Amino acid sequence: MIQNIAEKIADADMVLIGIGEEFEIKNSEKDNGEGEKAFLKRKQAYCRLKEVIKNKNYFIVTLCMDGIIYEADFDKKRIVEPCGSFYRLQCSGKCTSDIYEPDKNQTMKIQEFLKGKCEEKDIILPHCPKCGAPLAFNTIQTENYAEEGYLDMWQLYNKWLQGTVNKKLCILELGVGMRFPTVIRWPFEKVVYFNRKSTLFRVHSKLYQTTEEIKERSVGIQSDLMEFLKELSNQI
Ligand SMILES: [Zn+2]
Repeated sequence: MIQNIAEKIADADMVLIGIGEEFEIKNSEKDNGEGEKAFLKRKQAYCRLKEVIKNKNYFIVTLCMDGIIYEADFDKKRIVEPCGSFYRLQCSGKCTSDIYEPDKNQTMKIQEFLKGKCEEKDIILPHCPKCGAPLAFNTIQTENYAEEGYLDMWQLYNKWLQGTVNKKLCILELGVGMRFPTVIRWPFEKVVYFNRKSTLFRVHSKLYQTTEEIKERSVGIQSDLMEFLKELSNQI
């Protein structure tokens, strides 16, 4: 099976990657003080994924907000984060849709928080330069979420997706469950339904099943993501 996936990727004109909640560091890992180890494990998995698709025309849609993906050398212009990112800030009152970047110290603190080494309240964020309200993380969990943080990339993604019509498209869906199925899971199924030259590999520990309508062009794989990417990168 793994060899078959590697061949499909090699043969594809374009590769679409969906990354879901199973890729995030689990709360249990943070609580057990294994956040650092978990971070490195994910970083390694992303680096392996990069190895696998390095020479391909790819695009990545991720539900993760933890920014670990940027530890691997992906092209930033090929990643969209519709749920936002802890490494982007917005006005908590949304007086403006401007997006701000945390400074170096804040970035370090945010990373500690994401590894479970400190609490969210320990991160001191600056105030909005326009109205003075505190800044907040530009994520979907924030009230008044400013979607402007990802919309430019979303447009690029849609343009890229239009270019997949009639192309050999290989889709890898990695750990995408039912948290936000309208962002990756369902739209990917639709793409596979309409593109007869496409193949979907859906990898998940539990929700790996695909649907009847696309069964000829899709494969569900029950696997641990880290193990899966290790095996796949060994095929390259
Ligand atoms: Zn403001």
